[in-house]
Amino acid sequence: VHSFLDDDVSPDVVAADPMATLEANPHRHRRLPPPPQLFGASRKNSTGRDLSVEADREALRKPKQKLSESGTSVAVDVAVTTALKAHKEWDARGGAERGAILRAMADALQANHDPLCALIAREAGRSLQDGIDEVREAIDFCRYYAAEAERLLAGPIALPSPAGETDHLELHGRGVFVCISPWNFPLAIFTGQLAAALAAGNAVIAKPAEQTPRIAEAAVNLFYEAGLPRDVLQLVQGDGKVGGELVGDPRIAGVAFTGSTEVARIINRTLAAKDGPIVPLIAETGGLNGMFIDTTALKEQVVDDVIASAFQSAGQRCSSLRVLFLPNDTADGILETLLGAMDTLVIGDPADPFTDIGPIIDAEAKANLDKHIAKMRTEAKVLKQLDVSKLGGNFFGPAVIELKSLDQIDKEVFGPILHVVRYDPSDIANVGAKLAAKGYGLTLGVHSRLESFADDVKKAVPAGNVYVNRTIVGAVVGVQPFGGSGLSGTGPKAGGPFYLPRFAEERAISVNI
Ligand code: NAP
Repeated sequence: VHSFLDDDVSPDVVAADPMATLEANPHRHRRLPPPPQLFGASRKNSTGRDLSVEADREALRKPKQKLSESGTSVAVDVAVTTALKAHKEWDARGGAERGAILRAMADALQANHDPLCALIAREAGRSLQDGIDEVREAIDFCRYYAAEAERLLAGPIALPSPAGETDHLELHGRGVFVCISPWNFPLAIFTGQLAAALAAGNAVIAKPAEQTPRIAEAAVNLFYEAGLPRDVLQLVQGDGKVGGELVGDPRIAGVAFTGSTEVARIINRTLAAKDGPIVPLIAETGGLNGMFIDTTALKEQVVDDVIASAFQSAGQRCSSLRVLFLPNDTADGILETLLGAMDTLVIGDPADPFTDIGPIIDAEAKANLDKHIAKMRTEAKVLKQLDVSKLGGNFFGPAVIELKSLDQIDKEVFGPILHVVRYDPSDIANVGAKLAAKGYGLTLGVHSRLESFADDVKKAVPAGNVYVNRTIVGAVVGVQPFGGSGLSGTGPKAGGPFYLPRFAEERAISVNI
């Protein structure tokens, strides 16, 4: 197995074989003794160097980048200059050759499955199950966009032509594409953006979230190992300021951004204010996602799906359930079961195979959740919050809050906090319209045995991904193309048939013979 991890990474974290432990212990909820705490803990190697997640991040957050006289980062300038030179040759290779490199990348990810899961747990605090899902998704993205590149970019696409003329369409990379990604899917989204931009024939500059630099580094090294020329993909580590510099560079040809709605707006403004070519932005952002239950729904199924949708990944998914709408007639029974079932959740070290929920990404994000709960304790009713005080660090107890009305929430709260609103399902058109008026449109859930009710919900709340009688998280590449509209993003949908063309430019060629 190729090792992209250098000696500085704690061997006891990475060398452990979590999958073997998982297979050897099929009793999902057996509680193990408290694991050593990774988050907030200091871990020294034999030379005394601090190996904690914080130390890693600190070192990479302040990269040893030189600044030019004007104060901009030299790394940004070098990356754009290098990528510009590499673009033409890469574009000329065509979709089939680029697809082959993406398939090799998928194989490299597969070969590194276990260490990648361990790294995701360690750096991003995601559970091993989340890590397994994420590596799978990264592989799927590579294979899907490889197939799309072979379908759309392997050669000219013939068009209907008048007699004596041949007409065809060619798709080409736009130039240098900047890909900016979040920490919450540090491998899958990071790899997915790069795979699409590269497949379309662009040279790419990747700016990962500052919280997850090592996962990004690992993925980029695997791309190189898979045969990608180094100049075609440049990794620029750093904070939002570095992202802003990349977006503001007059030489770039496109931006793919996944993250918060607020930062998408900033990027949009920067692009609009620039002189020179009009640069397209693909933005995939947050959601205020609802799930509507009616009185025909099966209580146990509802509770299972709500718990997974609201609390998996500590609610740190753009698709996570934020507002649960319960029918006045059955709300009490569903809530009783839901609040009871929450006690079975295992919260703790993400690298422990029995953990359901890991920590919040950092102290700042946790403080925002604490602030929200404190406000809700005075303005609404906190029905339950699991006690995680013994864990310390950035752990946050999953919570359920009953709102007096939907007016009490307007924005995405990014963590394991579920808001509940009681409603009358016969009034779905009005209640749904109120949710839609918040402006988001990412995921939407319905639990009902009446097709007509599911149709009414779909009509009332436009959303990018609608799920009936199941969880609202875990979209599968090519099966549930993912993405929203309004405050939730610009489209196109990642892992769908219209994604790759947005990274490309079209040229129509007409030849008279
Ligand atoms: P974020 O704060 O918006 O950051 C996302 C990325 O943008 C990071 O790499 C960040 O760098 C960078 N950035 C920050 N300011 C910038 C600027 N002025 N110019 C250019 N880049 C800048 O989001 P996050 O906290 O990492 O991720 C959570 C958010 O992402 C949630 O809102 C979630 O809903 C959303 N999300 C959406 C999807 C989707 O598919 N729709 C998927 C996953 C997540 P730093 O990290 O260094 O600040």
